[in-house]
Amino acid sequence: MTSPAGGTALEVLSHVFGYDAFRGEQAEIVDQVTAGGDAVVLMPTGGGKSLCYQIPALLREGTGVVVSPLIALMHDQVQALQAVGVRAEFLNSTQSATERARVERDYRAGALDILYVAPERLSNPATRSLLGAGTIALFAIDEAHCVSQWGHDFRPDYLGLSELAELWPDVPRIALTATATEATHSEITQRLSLGGARHFVASFDRPNIQYRIVPKRDPRAQLVEFIRAEGQDAAGIVYALSRASVERTADYLSQRGITALPYHAGLDAEVRAEAQSRFLREDGVVIVATIAFGMGIDKPDVRFVAHIDLPKSVEGYYQETGRAGRDGEPAVAWLAYGLQDVVQQRRMIDDGAADFAHKRRSMQHLDAMLALCETVQCRRVNLLRYFGQESAPCGNCDTCLNLPAIVDGTVAAQKLLSTVVRLDRERNQRFGAGQVIDILRGKETARTRQHGHNALSTWGIGADLSDQRWRGVVRQLLAQGLLATRGEYGVLGLTESSGEVLRGERTVHLREEPEKPQRSRTSRRT
Ligand code: ADP
Ligand code: ZN
Repeated sequence: MTSPAGGTALEVLSHVFGYDAFRGEQAEIVDQVTAGGDAVVLMPTGGGKSLCYQIPALLREGTGVVVSPLIALMHDQVQALQAVGVRAEFLNSTQSATERARVERDYRAGALDILYVAPERLSNPATRSLLGAGTIALFAIDEAHCVSQWGHDFRPDYLGLSELAELWPDVPRIALTATATEATHSEITQRLSLGGARHFVASFDRPNIQYRIVPKRDPRAQLVEFIRAEGQDAAGIVYALSRASVERTADYLSQRGITALPYHAGLDAEVRAEAQSRFLREDGVVIVATIAFGMGIDKPDVRFVAHIDLPKSVEGYYQETGRAGRDGEPAVAWLAYGLQDVVQQRRMIDDGAADFAHKRRSMQHLDAMLALCETVQCRRVNLLRYFGQESAPCGNCDTCLNLPAIVDGTVAAQKLLSTVVRLDRERNQRFGAGQVIDILRGKETARTRQHGHNALSTWGIGADLSDQRWRGVVRQLLAQGLLATRGEYGVLGLTESSGEVLRGERTVHLREEPEKPQRSRTSRRT
């Protein structure tokens, strides 16, 4: 492939970007787009998607137009390209009118190799006429999963991008994403009119990442223990769901001698920039963040990604954990989750403003995440199967390294379900897991006395198991679809399949969790 300026793809790769070989399918993708064909690229985070459109943009005549929703990152991306001599610019709402005018002039004059544009600008007639006044080398649609209405990151502006095919039928288009369920894949193809595109689906396995998912007891203390075991110099990211939790956790870690910096959208831009720059520059910095952090951050030696709250979807979990170990060296994805996470997230979905179909889809996302947490199989097998990829047990996840004991939990499940049935049918009462467990264990509390629950026939029939074990039973029954939570307070209810267990028609397998906190395998730092 030769560019107007002369040179092949490989020459551009080495002369401009300083790399000597393409990775995976990069070369084929670059050839496809450079030759004017369309492409759909599913590649995990860190796989090297950017070069797949940057090199064709340099090889083809005109300007490569890159649609990206991550306005906050455009500046960095453009700077990185300019640093290697690529004539790159962006157009977005953060610019002054003067800057914008300069970029537009350069584009019209054919003086740009790459132009980043926010998706909402592309539906704007002014932007369209601007683009028409220059030569477009290609359209790259980054984070293409944002077009999926039922995905985890839908952006309405992406729907308008289908018009690019009609407006510029001769311009090649390449859609890229790190989110690769079968459903998202076909939605991207369909909604972006990429029926004639070649599809490139990379393996989603990240073999150097060790997956560990632990039951949540005292998440911050567990986190400290985990981080200390990783060693002093390990850079890491800790994800929490709320800003308040981010700040509390960062404080907690700092007080225990860990260099931890909070990062969320509510902090000043300078504070965030400072945190990000220290994270990139110094050794052993831990960023505690909401999911606002991480997109496009190119730090290869992140040694761990920890979640102290349950991610909302497997896609999100995969994307966030994918920020660990981009250098290919061993890294850990650690997640602590508990029953409360499930209850809280179901409530958030229930209370949300979304329509019914969207709520149902969110519940499905959550259920898939829960199934990953509660699987008795290899985490990686479960994770990759979610992305449509079959694999063998990996030997590098908590389940493989420490096979959980699988026990017959049918009787425990029956005890629990029949308590839920009795409360519901005999008394028309509904309670959350805490009260149900108190009843099973025969625990005298103000609430069990007040409701006369000691008169229930299931009172005390579960005294043989601890609170912690019972909570594990509840979580696993939820994950297996044998129990449901409803409404505001996480009240427990039955599902269509619960009856099979109650009637003894179905055996329930449960993972037996260790009663005591597990010892780390690695030695602790002093
Ligand atoms: P993605 O967008 O898929 O998450 P990036 O395009 O940001 O991934 O690439 C991830 C990292 O890998 C970057 O640091 C990039 O420079 C590097 N990289 C990409 N392709 C190659 C290659 N062929 N050789 C060496 N490094 C590469
Ligand atoms: Zn495994």
